[in-house]
Amino acid sequence: MLNIKVFGIVQGVGFRPFVSRIAAANKIFGTVANRGSYVEIFAQGADDDLQKFLAALRDEAPERSAILNVAIDNLPDENFADFRIVDSVHEAGDIFVSPDIAVCDKCAAELFDPTNRRYLHPFINCTACGPRLTILRNMPYDRERTSMDAFPMCDACAEEYHNPASRRYDAQPVCCNDCGPEVYLLGENLRGHEAIRHVRKILAQGGIVAIKGIGGFHLACDARNFAAVNRLRNSKTRPTKPFAVMFRDVDAVSRECILTAAQMKFLDSPQKPIVLLQKISGGTIAGNVAPNINRLGAMLPYTPLHMLLFNFPDALKNFPDALIMTSGNPSGAPITIDDADALKNFGDFCDAILSHDRDILLRADDSVMDFVDDRPSMIRRSRGYAPLPIFYGGKKIPVLAIGGELKNTFCLAKNNLLYASPYIGDVGDLRTVEVLKASINRMRDLLEISPEVVACDLHPRYQTTALATELAAKLNVPLVKVQHHFAHVLSCLAENNHGDAVIGVAFDGTGYGDDGTIWGGEFLICDATTYERAETISPFIQAGGDKSAREGWRIALSMIDIALARELRLATDAELAGQKFLLDKKINCVTSTSAGRLFDAVAAILGVCNVSTYEGEAAMRLQAVAERSTCESCGDFATTAELFAEVVSRRLRGENIFDTARFFHASLAEFVANVCAELSLRTKIKTVALSGGVFQNSLLSSLTATALNRRGLNVLRHELIPANDGGLCVGQAVHARAVSR
Ligand code: ZN
Ligand code: ZN
Ligand code: FE
Repeated sequence: MLNIKVFGIVQGVGFRPFVSRIAAANKIFGTVANRGSYVEIFAQGADDDLQKFLAALRDEAPERSAILNVAIDNLPDENFADFRIVDSVHEAGDIFVSPDIAVCDKCAAELFDPTNRRYLHPFINCTACGPRLTILRNMPYDRERTSMDAFPMCDACAEEYHNPASRRYDAQPVCCNDCGPEVYLLGENLRGHEAIRHVRKILAQGGIVAIKGIGGFHLACDARNFAAVNRLRNSKTRPTKPFAVMFRDVDAVSRECILTAAQMKFLDSPQKPIVLLQKISGGTIAGNVAPNINRLGAMLPYTPLHMLLFNFPDALKNFPDALIMTSGNPSGAPITIDDADALKNFGDFCDAILSHDRDILLRADDSVMDFVDDRPSMIRRSRGYAPLPIFYGGKKIPVLAIGGELKNTFCLAKNNLLYASPYIGDVGDLRTVEVLKASINRMRDLLEISPEVVACDLHPRYQTTALATELAAKLNVPLVKVQHHFAHVLSCLAENNHGDAVIGVAFDGTGYGDDGTIWGGEFLICDATTYERAETISPFIQAGGDKSAREGWRIALSMIDIALARELRLATDAELAGQKFLLDKKINCVTSTSAGRLFDAVAAILGVCNVSTYEGEAAMRLQAVAERSTCESCGDFATTAELFAEVVSRRLRGENIFDTARFFHASLAEFVANVCAELSLRTKIKTVALSGGVFQNSLLSSLTATALNRRGLNVLRHELIPANDGGLCVGQAVHARAVSR
């Protein structure tokens, strides 16, 4: 008899039914069970049959599963009379929780098949699709440990659940129109299909609806309707930050956006992330959906409810094939997941709130992905991806890394696995701190990790630093503070499974330096244990606190003469004089090497964007402007101060701003490559890691990688872990493990 342990993503993906099918096909007797961290099989049969069974186990595994390791032992035979799935028994070990999976093609077909008993059922799912992480209370993954335990299966569903021939065999969230959860309108007496018809009518007429999804509420309206989008912007106090659009299908996306094969693969994957695509001019999407930039965040329907909203068979004509689907969260707070909060947060401006009675236990915002050189570049890693671990060698100490203050995610690490959490949000808001705490507890329970070290940012005034200090004290374990840009670079090493020293280039907005100044344009020689700040962009003065992080003209003024600033009309004379006063008297001034602020200043000089209404706006708009140029020229500058001066003089000479914006990107890329080449000569290190939010700029990332390759240097870039602060937790965990014990 063989005792087989299968490690990997083997729970919640139809693995046990698959095993019992291949056992039957190969005349194998025995059992299969979930053990929490792995699936355990006892298999008995003829040697030939056992070999075929093992081959099938590896070659025919369900499409959503991922086998990472198979351990096989020989044991004496027992008296098995058949092959069966036995009850789950919990054991400790590495745990793989499946993320939520978009509705599969087979379920989608049944959803609109009038002869199917799940016709138009908003919660149709199977072993290959449906909610997972967001409904999971504990491991192992079984119905009684999910929020589906409130919905006892009807006889028909139970039959499928227990029938090895059914594609719902052992599917934990299985349900139907008779026994499953129900959708309803909050505050109105409409349920089920009536509620869906009503919402379709409201959306078609230009209304705003809050809709409960898999990982939280969305706010939705017709993406072609300028007035509706405008109303949503005013209600959310979100003047220009782009909204994501959910399209009915791929055809609808293709009418509005350019779609490469690689983008298509991710857009239509089981994860169904939001993918940033190049807009086609003359489309029907309203101009205020993603103003001033050339991209649009597009996604496809990923729950049965989304599909019903687009395609419900009623008499309604002209339902939009593109809906705004933006996270339903009050400004600064995490995404809303329950009815009481939905009423409080959206009740006064939504025309309807469509909810359902399946509880969301863990939040999961939509993941957002851009592309650089036709490779993915994750902007927000959440639904569909979290909490899949990344593998990274080194010490195996259990770690909790709290992450950064903005775009927070946290990371739990055990053995060689780093589990980054779903997106939490900006922790400046106390509501977010509460959600962060609760999410840490839930993930610790799920993954069974008792941290022996806690890691956080070096910033003394971050909420996350305070929380980490508190948790470390409570757990009575050491606290490791990790410099922001060091953590960025290490997150890139972890994602690329690179263990050796690198030249790390961390370009981002703001990070606390180990000398108390603002860093953000850093060249670090580092490995997992230590770093040397080898070079930076030219330092400048940031005066005026938070305002200087939003208003690029304030940065520009610290680098040019006030007369010139007046000539370029960077701000009103009074504003310029006020800012000049702060600079001269050194009031609220701090030295900064932030590359993000350098982009803001250039955007202001070129008249592209003087004031950002959301983080990264000026840089995104500057990139959009640069991408309109076909000019290939770039200059060779010893410092970024000289490059900046050249941008200013081109502006004064009245040169084309598209070309100048492009010139700035290309010259900055050359500058980075030159500095790295020098550092490589000195250190003999041949690998450069690019990280930090500024490298989300796909033009800069692409130009920089090309320039580095031309100098014979290898380049590590981010793909599925964000280059922005959403990836910090991973780097913090890497360093904390490396320096512990
Ligand atoms: Zn399915
Ligand atoms: Zn049922
Ligand atoms: Fe950062």
